[in-house]
Amino acid sequence: MERTLSIVKPDGVRKNVVGEVIGRFEKSGLNVAALKLISLSKEEAEGFYAVHKARPFFGSLTEFMSSGPVAVMVLTGDGAIKKVRDIMGATDPKNAAPGTIRKDFADSIESNIVHGSDGPDTAAFEIGYFFSALEILR
Ligand code: GDP
Repeated sequence: MERTLSIVKPDGVRKNVVGEVIGRFEKSGLNVAALKLISLSKEEAEGFYAVHKARPFFGSLTEFMSSGPVAVMVLTGDGAIKKVRDIMGATDPKNAAPGTIRKDFADSIESNIVHGSDGPDTAAFEIGYFFSALEILR
């Protein structure tokens, strides 16, 4: 059993694919253990993506992530981290495999609909960034 954090980004909320994204995770056998719709400030988005601080797209990315509500969730299940990454598809939708979320819904390498933690340490940091232990219900 593994935990991971996923986010339906502002473009996904605007396109009304929150349910579609969660549905794909649930169909793969993952459980929604925590879920909320929130609006990130620029500073909160910067804190979340601090690892990318030196990247040239940091300003644009954090502007985008604070441009509207996001749906943040904790997903649990066997191999949850890799499962979510596989269902999301490659960062750039141009390179994403057919049938992945990003291939089906994303417009660009930045506006790519969905986030998923990329490893156990990142998952622990990212889950703690949004949820307290008491809010994670399974
Ligand atoms: P992920 O793990 O697939 O989400 O990709 P990364 O951790 O490498 O990047 C984090 C997020 O930054 C991505 O999901 C995109 O929203 C954005 N991003 C990544 N690469 C680029 C880029 O080259 N240009 C821009 N504008 N955004 C990017």
